[in-house]
Amino acid sequence: MLKVVKFGGSSMADAKQFAKVRSIVQADPARRVVVVSAAGKRSPDDHKLTDLLYLCYAHLQYGVSCDSVFQMIADRYVSIRDECGLSTDIESELAALRAQMERGISQDELVSRGEYFSALLMADYLGFDFLDAKLWLKFKFDGSIDQEASYEELRRLAEGRSVVIPGFYGVMPDGRIRTLTRGGSDITGALAAAALDADVYENWTDVSGILMADPRIVENPLPIERITYNELRELSFVGAQVLHEGTVFPVREKNIPLNIRNTNDPDHPGTLIMEEFDDSEDAEHRFITGIAGKKNFSIVTIAKNGMSSTVGTFRQIFEIFESHGVSIEYAPSGIDCLSLVVSSDKVAPCLYSILGEIQKALKPDSIHVTENISIVAAVGRKMVFQPGVSGKIFATLGENGINIRMISQGPDELNIIVGVDTKDFASTIQVLYNSFVK
Ligand code: ASP
Repeated sequence: MLKVVKFGGSSMADAKQFAKVRSIVQADPARRVVVVSAAGKRSPDDHKLTDLLYLCYAHLQYGVSCDSVFQMIADRYVSIRDECGLSTDIESELAALRAQMERGISQDELVSRGEYFSALLMADYLGFDFLDAKLWLKFKFDGSIDQEASYEELRRLAEGRSVVIPGFYGVMPDGRIRTLTRGGSDITGALAAAALDADVYENWTDVSGILMADPRIVENPLPIERITYNELRELSFVGAQVLHEGTVFPVREKNIPLNIRNTNDPDHPGTLIMEEFDDSEDAEHRFITGIAGKKNFSIVTIAKNGMSSTVGTFRQIFEIFESHGVSIEYAPSGIDCLSLVVSSDKVAPCLYSILGEIQKALKPDSIHVTENISIVAAVGRKMVFQPGVSGKIFATLGENGINIRMISQGPDELNIIVGVDTKDFASTIQVLYNSFVK
């Protein structure tokens, strides 16, 4: 059994968090490969180490002294080292980095040092080997990851060892350090899990998994126990601030279960993400997995007698939007009318040109624009098996005085999407949650 475990910035923020990480790792001998982020915020008004490193780089760029920012970075790691009672010579590492900064350093290399220091200290604390990501996480010259070469190298290097790996960066073919996108330690962990064919990839953070709704809108929403990658994608598409399913493609490719866990509540099972679940024993369970929404949409409705039976009308309309670079999010249609749901910000600069072009090309009976629309999606793989779900949802919203301006259901029946007036945005989410989850 092998578990690849990744700890995010909040789990690495100070010595207290380091102690929690150590007890989690020590609680299960399968947790032999540990991937870490740079130290994150200790409180809401604190700074992430990676942000401070970016700030240092900006100072260097403009020839302004970055001493005070660098000191904040140094202090954080020295105090973690001291409070954990470690002997890592972090001062020499910091001095070497400072010297390199004087000589000239790339932005990627400088900002990658947060993860590097974190991993050095955590390896010492756990008694594991430090395994530098630059030894195995290989980029191609075009910036994509050379998965095959990386996997092979990691397999060779990690064989039979317990290791701590810094997240967020790897190496270019010419030996230069290159970082992944922000938040990229998730990718490092996923790559390591896939390379080593781990039984599970545990992603430890500061929440007990993905929540069923935005906690700023719904009080104490429940965490999602199990979610598929497709559901996750639906939820993030409609605005849920959750782990982006694209960042964990390596584990998805190999169908390795991904478990989001809370370092501050290690007994909580968190959220399990997989390609699919056997829900057959779970038929009684709630049919909504999560609810999310986004504000600031406009609906353009075009009506013209005979439009539905004329070949090419929809294409013409779509092309006009396309030529202005406006993406169509949803396109519910009725007989002889078509509604296009588009981002208000995207359409605003070219709305009148688009309307003019539609007028000219189609000579419709009417064109109508509705502003201040919000989209709310109820996502759930179990909706497929339950007749009457959409009816229940619409009835409940109606009973609560919410006027539905648009309805759309994906052909895969994974979601039901409603467009409502933005003034009803929060209450729509609350009503759905309270009626179908609580
Ligand atoms: N430290 C990096 C960042 O802040 C990467 C990570 O934490 O995943 O983006």
